[in-house]
Amino acid sequence: HVEFKDVRKTYDGETLVVKNLNLQIRRGEFLTLLGPSGSGKTTSLMMLAGFEVPTSGDIRLAGRSIAGLPPHKRDIGMVFQNYALFPHMTVAENLAFPLSVRKMPKAEIEDRVGKALRMVHLEKFDARRPAELSGGQQQRVALARALVFDPQLVLMDEPLGALDKQLREHMQLEIKHIHESLGVTVVYVTHDQTEALTMSDRIAVFNHGVIQQIDVPDRLYQQPCNSFVANFIGENN
Ligand code: ATP
Repeated sequence: HVEFKDVRKTYDGETLVVKNLNLQIRRGEFLTLLGPSGSGKTTSLMMLAGFEVPTSGDIRLAGRSIAGLPPHKRDIGMVFQNYALFPHMTVAENLAFPLSVRKMPKAEIEDRVGKALRMVHLEKFDARRPAELSGGQQQRVALARALVFDPQLVLMDEPLGALDKQLREHMQLEIKHIHESLGVTVVYVTHDQTEALTMSDRIAVFNHGVIQQIDVPDRLYQQPCNSFVANFIGENN
């Protein structure tokens, strides 16, 4: 579904933040980019989303190069830790806004907003404003907003980072459930090993802009390919 081919990224013309990324992500897969802070996970995701341009190499989506395609034309939904809902709009308006900007018919907007809110169990909260919701509920709105376009691919960058442990574990299950019921491809960024091990079909372990190992959780845990992976996966477990 997604292919990174020899992708490199430098911000200052010198340091390569992403060194030579080759990665294939299958349709419907839940793939996690895992690694310490500064290892290049977010930069890789931003290039896929279209907010950063690769210095060299190519990214393909459903077999087509997406170089030069602006973010809103990539059929990608996005959820970030700082989800930035519009404070003056209700939950339903937050979801409807990006659709109405694209001149979608009103009946279809209502239908899609209703569906997305049901998916995150917030159908009774449609008239609230973000300030009247808990942190977890706000994050659910952000999730629904990423799904309202019915994208084939959803990118999530530390979406649960701001939540406490219990809520985080609950939301991990909800996200997995949504992933499975929709069959969407998910690329998920985290520095939390446990989160990656419980949620992912495969995990790509990053360090210094290089994928050290890409594998299913069991094999990463049992057969780490080097001491970095062994130590990083072993932490907190
Ligand atoms: P984190 O979990 O802390 O976000 P990360 O693995 O996602 O880490 P990136 O955000 O991709 O890492 O950052 C990789 C490197 O690129 C870091 O050293 C960072 O300082 C640098 N970097 C990121 N964005 C920019 C930018 N816009 N301009 C210059 N340098 C940047």
